[in-house]
Amino acid sequence: MASSPEVVINEIPTTSNLPIPVTSKIKLQKGSKTPPNSPWIPTSPWGLKDNKEFSYKNTSFEDVMSEQLANQLQLAEDRKQSADDFSNPVEPDLDIDGGEAHENEDTSNDLLIAQLLQAKMDKEYNQYLTRQENTVNQNSKVRLSYTNYRMDEIFSSDDDDSDTEVEYDADTDAQDPSSNMLQVNSGKGYVMFGKEVVTKHDLEISGRKNTARLEDSFPVEFKTGDARGMDIQLSNKIYNSLKKHAYAEQRRGQRLHEEKEHYTAEHAVDEKTRLILHRLVDRGVIASVNGVVSIGKEAVVIHVDGGDVIGSDSSKNNDEMQNLLIPAECVVKIYKTTLNEFKARDKYIKDDYRFKDRFKKLNPRKIIHMWAEKEMHNLNRMNEAGIACPQVVLLRKHILVMSFIGHDQQPAPKLKSAILSTTQKKSAYEQVLSMMKTLYHECKLIHADLSEFNLLWHDGKVWMIDVSQSVEPSHPHGLEFLLRDCYNISKFFTNLGVKDVPGSYQLFNEVSGLDIPLSDDASFRSAIEVLQNSAEEHAHQGRRKASEILTQSATEKK
Ligand code: ADP
Ligand code: MG
Repeated sequence: MASSPEVVINEIPTTSNLPIPVTSKIKLQKGSKTPPNSPWIPTSPWGLKDNKEFSYKNTSFEDVMSEQLANQLQLAEDRKQSADDFSNPVEPDLDIDGGEAHENEDTSNDLLIAQLLQAKMDKEYNQYLTRQENTVNQNSKVRLSYTNYRMDEIFSSDDDDSDTEVEYDADTDAQDPSSNMLQVNSGKGYVMFGKEVVTKHDLEISGRKNTARLEDSFPVEFKTGDARGMDIQLSNKIYNSLKKHAYAEQRRGQRLHEEKEHYTAEHAVDEKTRLILHRLVDRGVIASVNGVVSIGKEAVVIHVDGGDVIGSDSSKNNDEMQNLLIPAECVVKIYKTTLNEFKARDKYIKDDYRFKDRFKKLNPRKIIHMWAEKEMHNLNRMNEAGIACPQVVLLRKHILVMSFIGHDQQPAPKLKSAILSTTQKKSAYEQVLSMMKTLYHECKLIHADLSEFNLLWHDGKVWMIDVSQSVEPSHPHGLEFLLRDCYNISKFFTNLGVKDVPGSYQLFNEVSGLDIPLSDDASFRSAIEVLQNSAEEHAHQGRRKASEILTQSATEKK
């Protein structure tokens, strides 16, 4: 082409009746022919106006001047060149200098467009298959797969991490972003890109593929933005680490969500509980909620500042509240509304004659309220008997507000972890023994979960807590529970090095005042059982208090 002779013209002559493109200084190839369908009929360069006999077919000079001809020639050449290269349309080399080129009806991209459409249809077809698959399979364990019917998708899943195998480095900078739709034929693993072989590892193509996959294969909530539209190319390495990150984020999000739900279920601070707490704050019972003291299996204990309730609720004429004297520091014990744990503890309440009748009628949630109520009644009894224990402030459903054992938000240590001198240890044992006796004889209660974990050391004193499961001695298993308590206490103080701590049976007799012979383990236990049964019977008949009977029967045995 470069060697062809050129004719340079500055102006194209016009005819009066035909539209003439205004073009100047066009380089044209000599001897080229204007195609018969050319919209432009040239005029005579010799000024022969309105020459009826004029025929462009015979006018070779006009042909030479024909810009259209030049375009057509160029096009023909382009087509030839791009016949096997649909993806690389060649710009016609018009070398127009300061002039306007004609709109070029380029069809070399048709194949590409067809492929794009095909790709879209394939994708839709595959989505349709997926829907069909889901409809057919439903929840069935054996799943039918339509994989064999699927069309190869343009962005087929390719988790290859390799970044190194670069076999093609085409200069495709000028390509439209949509050209990242170019397909590497997944059947072959490569595609002819011009005359080059392009593998799936081609940096640029896989980069664009990766970008496109951002939107399709990442979790929906992962914001990828319009990376495709911006023709961003992501290397496999970056794509894979992004994907990893996206899924890690998704899992983290789900975990947090689960934890949140878990929290409401497991830690008892569910919607209803929060509402009650809000009300207590509103009414001035609680000044502020500070933090969690303990999360146990059955309850959550939260430290709160006691409020100044007096007068704050006068409109509701709530005498109970108005007369409350609330300690500066309190705890809120929230009984978990999940039933799993409480199921195991049913035996403490369903056989307690105080709650027995109600227990049968109540739904599980109400039964949990009963636990809170039970702790309240037991604490009140203990307080009346002068046992060092939390003072009940208020009961609301499954929430019990009581005084805090500790100072400045620091809860008193459990006996288990308290650091005590030898004298304090001895004193602690004596206090516990005395408490157990008082509890049994005056409060008519057996702690039933007594150990170094439910005894606090505060102000040089032992404090007894956690009495929701405490039962009366008449309880069918009351004496068994007492024996277990005695075992825990005897063991703990013995291990602590306190001298003269009796064994569990002796301690049992000492606490209960019963005098069961200390022959052997089996006969001690069966004696307890006999006593238990008779006490239960009496309690049922309501004739006398079971504990009195127990003490009496022990005396009779003597
Ligand atoms: P759980 O049934 O979970 O054992 P507890 O009543 O024993 O419930 O309370 C759990 C922990 O919370 C106790 O071991 C104690 O450390 C703390 N705690 C409970 N009540 C009080 C209180 N009134 N004052 C200070 N700390 C308390
Ligand atoms: Mg406890």
